[in-house]
Amino acid sequence: MKKMTECRSCGSVYETKLVRCPYCQTAYDPAAEDEYMEQLEDVRVELAGHRGDADKRTGAALMRTFVIFAIAVVLIIVIGICIFILPKNRSRNRLQERKDEFIRDISEDADDPGSDDK
Ligand SMILES: [Zn+2]
Repeated sequence: MKKMTECRSCGSVYETKLVRCPYCQTAYDPAAEDEYMEQLEDVRVELAGHRGDADKRTGAALMRTFVIFAIAVVLIIVIGICIFILPKNRSRNRLQERKDEFIRDISEDADDPGSDDK
């Protein structure tokens, strides 16, 4: 048998599961409270689902930022090597070449001492 209640406003009798009196629309508090709690629970469940989405999206954004940062750091290091280290090596090589050339000239003069006397 269905549970019945009496409307506190118009006095008509209706099922307790109804949120409102079907005749005068006055709210039946226990049923209204149950429905409110159910809606609140639905909102809570939906929010919990969306919180997971947000964490995933935040993680992806953080990962993307980290990858971009790592690429930037690698690029800066490569550009720094090109600008500061390679030219020094090249000028050091040029200096070494000039030293070798100088030593070659001196040793050629030493091997052929008569060439200057002509
Ligand atoms: Zn009523």
